[in-house]
This record gives sequence, C-alpha cells and structure tokens, in this order.
Amino acid sequence: MSATATGESAENPLVAGLERLPVHPTSLVIFGGTGDLAHRKLLPALYNLAHEGALPERFEMIGVARREKEDEAFQDMARESIERYSRTKPDPDVLEGLLSDMRYVPGAFDDDEVYAELERTLKQFDEQAGEQLDRVFYLSTAPQFFPVIAGKLGEAGLNRAEQAEVRIVIEKPFGYDLASARSLNTEVLGVFEESQVFRIDHYLGKETVQNLMALRFANALFEPVWNRNFIDNVQITAAEDIGIEGRAGYYEGAGALRDLVQNHMLQLLALLTMEPPAAFEANRLRDEKLKVLEAIVPPAPEEVGAMAVRAQYAPGVSGGSEVPGYREEEGVAADSRTETYAALRLHVSNWRWAGVPFYLRTGKRLARKVTEIAVTLKPVPHLAFQSSGSVGVQCNQIVLTVQPDEGVSVSLGAKIPGPRMRIRPVNMEFRYGTSFMSQSPEAYERLILDAMRGDATLFTRNDEIEALWGVIDPILTAWHEDTSSPIPEYPAGSAGPAQADQLLDGDRHWRRL
Ligand code: NAP
Repeated sequence: MSATATGESAENPLVAGLERLPVHPTSLVIFGGTGDLAHRKLLPALYNLAHEGALPERFEMIGVARREKEDEAFQDMARESIERYSRTKPDPDVLEGLLSDMRYVPGAFDDDEVYAELERTLKQFDEQAGEQLDRVFYLSTAPQFFPVIAGKLGEAGLNRAEQAEVRIVIEKPFGYDLASARSLNTEVLGVFEESQVFRIDHYLGKETVQNLMALRFANALFEPVWNRNFIDNVQITAAEDIGIEGRAGYYEGAGALRDLVQNHMLQLLALLTMEPPAAFEANRLRDEKLKVLEAIVPPAPEEVGAMAVRAQYAPGVSGGSEVPGYREEEGVAADSRTETYAALRLHVSNWRWAGVPFYLRTGKRLARKVTEIAVTLKPVPHLAFQSSGSVGVQCNQIVLTVQPDEGVSVSLGAKIPGPRMRIRPVNMEFRYGTSFMSQSPEAYERLILDAMRGDATLFTRNDEIEALWGVIDPILTAWHEDTSSPIPEYPAGSAGPAQADQLLDGDRHWRRL
C-alpha cells in the first residue's frame, strides 16, 4: 500500500521533522499482534505514522499470534484498536489504506509452519513491490518467546536477506536478572548481528526524555554547572498512583526494581550523567551511557541495606476511595515479598560525579502520578542579604518533568517587591504543551520509525543492557536471599515508607509528591 498523509498534517510542525527521514519500503511483522501492547500502542502508533505521511511509500504488515483468525478479522481488530486508542482522530481513507494490506498468520511461536507461511507472505510482498522490502520483526510477546522466535527465524533463514535489511525489535523485559540477560543476548546474537537488534525501552522514545539531551547539550547555561562542584544531589522519581491493575501474574514475578528501575530510571540517570557525545549517533551515544553505567559501583551484599529500601503498599485511600493493600490484591500471594516500592542511593564514581548522591524512587499507589528528575544545586557560598530578613532562600533546582505535565522548571531566588532586600524562590517554567502548541508523538511512533530506518540511537545495546542489570543484580539477590526480615509498608495514597528517608543524608529530604 502507499501511505498518504492527510491535508491537515501539512501544517503540523511534527511532520516537518518526520518528512526528512527517509524510510526504505518495509514489511513489519508483529509477533503477538493480537496482544495488549499491539492493541493499545503499536497499531495506533502505525496509524499515526500513516496519518502524518511518515510511513514508507510501500509498507506491509503481518500480525502473528496463536488464535485462528482470517486477515479480515485481524483488520477489524486493528481498526477497533486504532479507533479506540489513536491520539489523532482516524481519517477513514488513511485508516482503510493502512488496514487493507494487513495480513495475519496464525500459529504457535514454536511451530515451523508459522515461519514457512511467514516467508511465503513476505516473498509475496516483495514480488508485488518488484523489490526486496526491508524486514522488521517486532517481538511483542511474553519474554520466554524471545529466544524461541529469534531461533526459529534463524532456522528459517529469515534473519538475513540478500538485498534488504533485516531487523529484530525486542520488547522489555530483556532478561530477568544479569545471568538471564546475558544468556538472552547470547541466543539472540547467535542468530542476528548486534546492528540488527533493537531492544526497546519506550522511555527513550518519549519527547521529554530526549529533551534531557537537548537541555544539556543545546544550552550553554547548564553544562558548566553539571558536575560535583555545583550539584548537591539528584532525585529521580517515577511515582504511580494506581495499583497493579489486575496484573498480579506479571507483577508478582517482577516488582518495582525490575519493572522501572533496571530500565527506565537507570536510562534517565545515564542520560543525565553521561559525557557529551561527539555526535548524536547510536554507538557514540551508547558508548557514553555505558561508561557512566559502568561507573555506578554495584553494592556489596552487606551494603544493600544501607543504600536500598523496598516496601509494599498497605490498604489506604487513593483518589478518594478506599483501596486494598498489595497482599489483598487478586492473584497476589498472602505472604508475597514482592516490592511495590523501591528507593536507592547510587553514586557515579568518576571525576564529574564523585560524591554526588543520586536518589531514585519508584512505587505504585503513591500520592500522585509523576515522573521527574530534580537536580539540586549547592547553596551559594555566602548569603549577603541574610540580615535583611530573606525568607526561605533555597538552593536552585532544575526539574525536568517527564510526565504528566511535560516540561522543565528552574527555581530561582527572587526579590520580594518592597523596600527591603528580601528573597524567596520562584519558578521559571517551560511547558511542552504551551511552547509547541502541538501534541507530542507517542514514544512507540518514534521507536517504530527509528527501527524501520535502522537508527538504534534510542535503543539499548547488548553491553548496555548487561551494565543496567549489573547495577541492580546485587540488590535483587540480597532481597531474594533475605526471606525473614519484614518488608516495610506504606499506606496506599501516601508518599511512601518512612524508611526511605534514611537513604538521604544530612538535611536533604525527598521532594513532595
Ligand atoms: P499479551 O497481551 O499477553 O499478548 C501476548 C501475545 O502473544 C498475544 O498476541 C498472544 O496471542 C500471543 N501468544 C501468546 N502465546 C503464544 C504462543 N505460544 N504462540 C503464538 N502466539 C502466542 O502481552 P502484551 O501485554 O501485549 O505484552 C507483550 C510484550 O510487550 C511483553 O514482553 C511485555 O512485557 C511488553 N510490554 C507490554 C506493555 C503493555 O502495556 N501491555 C508495556 C510495555 C511492554 P493470542 O492472543 O492469540 O493468545
């Protein structure tokens, strides 16, 4: 099919950016094409790319999943997903254009016939196009199928093409701990070259996360103070107000550390602390991230207690309603020790960051939903106005909000109007919504497009994924081995457990939630 943009998109400033990115004609295969992620994110993202004219001239898609279905039934399901979840109102022509060439291959992921059928369909697309299309295999499946599918693609010879690029996109979680991540890397890299592998961390596709790099490297203002001489501490928060939303099956085996810290929060930390790359190019950027991740010294077993806190939510009040505690949630074991809250104090041991504590916290059923990075500068060396009765002079803080109100704010000390020299903190703010007057694309739109273009800048490399696991593996092990000490609790709807305060030294305190 040929993807056409609607008239309105001609005025959309986002399209200007996307139009400059050439994408080779591509066949995209989504393993798990009927699953929740495909339904809520991937299919709507494809529609929005089509809507903005960003898909290649020739784009074909195949969904692969277990249940029996005809192409038409798959298209109907995709139409429903798009109508329900697309961020732009579907234009009937663009939507039908996108759906008309979607195909569906039913079968189990370990069944050779699935791959034979896939090959026949992909060849058909190539013949219709009169050229070999690039191929992207997107693994939107439970993680136990990642090695199975990679292996079967290899056996079927679908891991290479003579005249086109072949790429594999792998969803999270990539591994369950360091050992399993290593073994998954070995299995995948036994079939594909690293340059073909795109490990997803959808946080990296978020505009505000990329804005962290713009903030640091497109402004002369921040970089001179971005080091231990000026920065007192950094807090990274990923707080959710919701509970586990019926996903006990997944969450019981994961917990907060695996769910958010190992991937998203450590990625934020790496982007915040890495040296400026010489070019915004996949391997240069990932080299710099790897260096800082390797500079985070993992704790020895006896140090874990002093630098990491876990907790579970107890019954409480959230959004005005009484809600159950974690162990009362359906599907959660009554004696579960899975953490719904994790807080860490980390150090990046290099010249730039020696001595600066990085405090990370994440949790479910907290007071509000917010993901932010707060960089607190050191106090001024001497406050000359003290005798004039300055009120509440505080250290400058640079706060980057990833969600929900995406933007950046810088707190400044300002003079209170009047005859006396009195100071109080005020905020200087930039909000995405008001500055750009346009809706940001969803992370998955950017990432799918990048994978089709072969740009791995916003994907995680094999050594990087192992470095990420390397940081949290000792904590996971220590927590796993400690089967007796009680897990602290915090009331649902609160700011988290009191024990987390002990991670902060001196008179530092967690930002209010
Ligand atoms: P899901 O809803 O359980 O979907 C699983 C998909 O795999 C379905 O299409 C299912 O097909 C298919 N499937 C399962 N077993 C199969 C088998 N043996 N043979 C063939 N097909 C099989 O999972 P999901 O929530 O979409 O998650 C997919 C991946 O994305 C996971 O790695 C998850 O961690 C990651 N992820 C998900 C989200 C999210 O919001 N859902 C967010 C971030 C990351 P049938 O429907 O035919 O059974």
